[in-house]
Parts: sequence; C-alpha cells; structure tokens
Amino acid sequence: MNYISTRDNQCAVSASFAIANGISAEGGLFVPEAIPQTDAAFIESLVPLDYAARARKILPLFLTDYTADELREYTAAAYGAQFTGDTPAPVVKLRDNVSMLELWHGPTCAFKDMALQLLPHLLTGAAGRVLDGKESVILVATSGDTGKAALEGFKDVKGTRILVFFPEHGVSPMQKLQMMTQEGENVGVCGIEGNFDDAQTGVKAIFTDPAVRSKLAANGMCFSSANSINWGRLVPQIVYYFSAYADLIAQGEIKNGDRVNFTVPTGNFGNILAGWYAMKMGLPVNKLICASNENDVLTEFLTTGRYNRRRPFHTTVSPSMDILISSNLERLIFHLLHNDSEETKRLFAALKETGEYTVPDALLREIKSTFAAGCCNDDETKAAIADTYKTHGYLSDTHTGVAIRVYNSYRAATGDKTPTVIVSTASPYKFSKAVLSAVADGQIEAETEFDMVRELEEKTGVPAPAPLKGLAGKAPRFTGVCEKDRMEAEVYKLLGI
Ligand SMILES: *Cc1c(COP(=O)(O)O)cnc(C)c1O
Repeated sequence: MNYISTRDNQCAVSASFAIANGISAEGGLFVPEAIPQTDAAFIESLVPLDYAARARKILPLFLTDYTADELREYTAAAYGAQFTGDTPAPVVKLRDNVSMLELWHGPTCAFKDMALQLLPHLLTGAAGRVLDGKESVILVATSGDTGKAALEGFKDVKGTRILVFFPEHGVSPMQKLQMMTQEGENVGVCGIEGNFDDAQTGVKAIFTDPAVRSKLAANGMCFSSANSINWGRLVPQIVYYFSAYADLIAQGEIKNGDRVNFTVPTGNFGNILAGWYAMKMGLPVNKLICASNENDVLTEFLTTGRYNRRRPFHTTVSPSMDILISSNLERLIFHLLHNDSEETKRLFAALKETGEYTVPDALLREIKSTFAAGCCNDDETKAAIADTYKTHGYLSDTHTGVAIRVYNSYRAATGDKTPTVIVSTASPYKFSKAVLSAVADGQIEAETEFDMVRELEEKTGVPAPAPLKGLAGKAPRFTGVCEKDRMEAEVYKLLGI
C-alpha cells in the first residue's frame, strides 16, 4: 500500500517513509491511497483475541512494508505489562446501551499511550529502511498529554532524540510535572509563552523550513513527528475501535453487524479520525459524535461547513482539547474530496491567510451523514462528572466529562438509542482539582496537587494510578520557558548544534 500527501496526490511513498518523515515535504499530511476493507468474518475473528493479537490483524492492512515478525515483536512490546489491568483498552458498561472505552491504563495515564507505546518501534523499524543511518529528531507540540506519552515512548530509544514544547500556562499541574520530571538521556522539554496552536504552528514551520532541514542533515539528523500529523500515530488508534466492537460482541451487548455510535472528546481530530477510518474499513458505525469544550470550532464546522479559527481561545478544565486548529481535519476533507489535493491545498491556504474556509454543500451533507457534534462549557462538564459519579458510581476525567455531556444532549435531542461507546481518554487524577471540585460540589480542603489526589481517593475510593502518585516530591529537571518565536533557537540549543 502506498501513501499520498493531502497536498500532493501524485507522490507515492511507503508506510515506512510516511512514518519516518512524519509530514510530507510540501506541508501535506500522509494518507493511505486506498482504505483496506474488512468484513463480518474478519470482525468475528477478532473476538477471541487479546489486544496485541487484534492489533496484529489490523496493522498489516496498512503497514504493508513491515514484516509479520516485526509487527509481532512491536505489538508484544507495546501492549505488555506497562498497561495495568487485564487489557490495555477495557470496555466498561456505564448503563443500558452505553459503555466506556477506557484508554488510559498505560504508563502516562492518557489515551496517547495507545499509539505512543507503539510508534517508537514503528519509527526505528522504518528508519532502518529509509533514513540511512540518520538520527531521528522527534519534535512534539503538546496540549498536555502527547508530550509525556511521547517522552515515555521515546526515552533512551537508540537513534532518536525527542524535544517537547508545551504551553507554559495551558496544561494541568500534573501534566506539567509529568513532563518536567522526565528521565532519559535523549530528551528535552521546554514551555512556551503561547497556546497549543502557537506550539503546533511553530513545530510545523520548523519542520518544513528547508534551511532548518539542511542544518539538521549536516549534523546527521532528520526530523520526525510524534504528533497525530504522523500516520504512525493514527494507525494504532484504529485498532481500539475494532477492539471495542469485538468486546461488545463478547459481552453480549451487541450482535456482529449491529451498528454502534462512538462519542469522542476531540481536539486535534486524531482520535475521532481513527474511528472514521475504522468505519470506512467496514466497522458497523452509526454516528461518530464529536465532543468539544468551549473551543467549539469543530462543532460549528461539522454542523455548518464553515471552519473559522478567528474566535477567542478559551483555557478550560479539559486543556488537551484547547485547540482551534484541528490538523487532522485536513485528512478527512482530502478523502471526502476524493483525493483532490489542489482543492485541499486551496482550502488550507485560505485557513492560513484568512483564518477560515467553507466546504461545498455536498461535502457538508456527507459529513453530517456520519458526524454529529456538540460542545459544552466547564460548568456543564463538571455537572456531567458529578452526575455520572452520583448516578452510576463512575469517575471520569474532564475530557471524558465533555464527551458524556455532549452524548447526553445528543441522545435527548435525537432520541437515538443506538448502543454507544464513549471514549474515555484520561485518568481523572491528571485533573484532580476540577474532578474533585465536581464531585465535592466545590468544597475542596486540600491545597496542593498531591493533597487533592489523596482527597479524591478518599472521597471516591477510586485509587490513583501509581505513575502519577510516584511524582510526589520528585524534583523538576526541565524548567526552561521560551517565547513562541524562539522555538527554532531552542531546538538548536537542546540538540547542541
Ligand atoms: C489529546 C487528548 C484529546 C483529544 O484528542 P485528539 O486526537 O487531539 O482529538 C482528548 N482527551 C485527552 C485526555 C487527550 O489527551
């Protein structure tokens, strides 16, 4: 299978090339030139398998230049004991017809681990084939969770260096501490004075600047990305949509062939896009429900066809979704435009120059046949967390709280009773203050982050994950902050070139 770029449908590269390079030279995103098809028998065959074995059925459909031996080794290493519990992605029943897909049992307690435990293996395998000995420099912009998950995945991986930029005032205290205390010889972390969009725009600009690329090449280095602009981030995420469906069959909640909804708390549109690929591969999906916080740019786009990033940026209790430029939408639009890279280029040039674009009516109709969308503010998110805890004894994080709220509104407005999976993306203990304030009606006694963790544990009886508790008292190692227009210089400094 070849990959083409959303801004150049004539280039044809291997999966290894797409993953090792992260982004196409002209700034487009790599996508598969055709989407592989599965059928009911394929889905049935997943039911008795464990998660790694399910991954071994799905990944080869896309990663055709990796050998079966490579993928066996990588999936065994990625989905092993670093995930706690019986399976990396358990499906837990919330109430009749509604289940939670918990994706946060990995080492950094957010769903990014599902892809970032595998990506370093995919990338080093690919580098051997396409980078002739160059060192991979992984440049990451994070809204909070990708940074830590990428650092954990790539720390001390031979032939790689990893540099993470996070918005200094835009992540939770726990997220910040996770990154600032990162261990490993090949890692660097820096805060920026700016928001996630600034970090992402800065990283993309550094990435595609020919002068920067040649400076790296002269030092035997080459950039790659661990953000969801990298195909190697998306493809592992397709697996858990199939896995959740297989689990629902195993649990007797559905019969093979029944359609299900997925509700996905969304920021950069990577997670939900993986669900879209799963649907296009033949997974029986009714609706993909896109849940946003007060940064509601996607809600407007998916309901009106107009994408307008010129709007106030809100800092919310679900910081990993505080995003106004959702990169992966470019992939969806390219596919829906039947691989028309000229038109895709035009739309995204307009976004860059004018801050907005509008898709044709026919495309909007197609979007609406698959996607529903909704948003909510922080008070509504906290009310959803409190209500879900009181009614069902289920404790959710703030991002998942957004999804629960948006799903409840969707169901009330449409009467749609299709079995639904709500994708649960982080441990509540990454956002203890907001979650505690929700379940304790705003009455918090604790003052420090780790006192809040303890108070939340005592109040709910839900144990905090060991990797988060273990950060208490750990001294920060990276405390640097830079201006958003100084990121390039910071990269050279961190690389020592
Ligand atoms: C990254 C993240 C999201 C948003 O996922 P996208 O793929 O960017 O849409 C939602 N919730 C949490 C906890 C996250 O870390």
